[in-house]
Amino acid sequence: MGVQEVDVHMTAGDDVRSYANNSAHQKIGISKARHVLDETLKEMLADSGFPKCFKMADLGCSSGPNTLSVVAQIIGTIEGLCELKNVDELPEFEVFLNDLSGNDFNNLFKLLPDFYKKLNDHPAKNKGLRCFISGLPGSFYGRLFPTNALNFVYSSFSLQWLSKIPDGLEKNKQDIHMAMASPPEIFDAYARQYQRDFTTFLSSRGEEMSCGGRMVPTFVGRSVEDPSTKDDCTHFKLLAGVLLEMVNEGHVKETDLHSFNMPIYTPCKQEVEALIHNEGSFNLDKFEHFLVPWDAHVEHENTEDRASALGPKGSVPDYRRGKLVSDFIRAYTEPVLASHFGSSIIDDLYVRYAKKLAEYLSTEKPSFFNVIICLSKK
Ligand code: SAH
Repeated sequence: MGVQEVDVHMTAGDDVRSYANNSAHQKIGISKARHVLDETLKEMLADSGFPKCFKMADLGCSSGPNTLSVVAQIIGTIEGLCELKNVDELPEFEVFLNDLSGNDFNNLFKLLPDFYKKLNDHPAKNKGLRCFISGLPGSFYGRLFPTNALNFVYSSFSLQWLSKIPDGLEKNKQDIHMAMASPPEIFDAYARQYQRDFTTFLSSRGEEMSCGGRMVPTFVGRSVEDPSTKDDCTHFKLLAGVLLEMVNEGHVKETDLHSFNMPIYTPCKQEVEALIHNEGSFNLDKFEHFLVPWDAHVEHENTEDRASALGPKGSVPDYRRGKLVSDFIRAYTEPVLASHFGSSIIDDLYVRYAKKLAEYLSTEKPSFFNVIICLSKK
């Protein structure tokens, strides 16, 4: 650790908080990654047999329903494999749910009694399943566990968060992230911070995981090696456009915009491969990617939400789409924006953002480029 922790947690109203506590959008990503998770567990248990106690961690778990559904899924897959292999005794499960200390662990803990009850709702199938869940606050950019404490590590949509805003971004004035037209030193500053963070992440897990253990992180990535050839983060470009508009109208100080940058990095395949190879604790067994449209979760909203999200006359579907995408992005960008610009501009900012997104989505069909990798501990 040692670095100043970026607190990415919500500070605002409950309506948006429901998106923050792992969103419908992330749920779609998690389901797209499921086959890799299942295959990895199968390979791992075929290689090293079934441990007496399966020790796993979810890093960057957040505090909503997705968190425990992934735990249930992993346990279900292992149960299925035990049945298939006629293994008499199920392993016990020790599960650590990790996130930064500002995470709402209490919310997670409140979901546990119901979760345990559901796990044991099928006694014939579960044969007295034993699962022990604890919360573990702290940054995954550093040691969290004793040596050899874990067999399996899962992480979804957390590793694109850097431990801090990179140094050396002084020239990034009207953008809030790397953009296609950014000067090379902006790309370098982001890439250097990512190299440091991801290497620390790997070496920490390298100490904590036992030999043959697997790690399956899913994160937002970049589809091209050279970031100056394609904008994969147009949503940040549009957000920067809103901030600039607010500067021009006198609602935001220009110096505040110039000094703001998102602590997020979306690496490409070559970078991920090179860092894993150079750090040396893991083999990279799989690298896959999948696209999730920005508005993938919109169709999943119920009709009541549709009615309450009606926009200005004549633009209902577009506005609603823009608003729902804005809500999803707000859930993870608001804390950093509010702490830099102050919370008084926030509501106005996201109303403008929803309109900008709606406009953009009326002509474009953008997607997030997501990466899922599978690593085995040497
Ligand atoms: N895994 C969940 C939540 C993803 S949101 C899902 O897929 O739905 C990203 C989460 O990563 C946030 O809860 C954030 O607090 C956490 N996070 C970001 N940086 C972290 C760090 N350095 N250490 C631990 N958790 C971190």
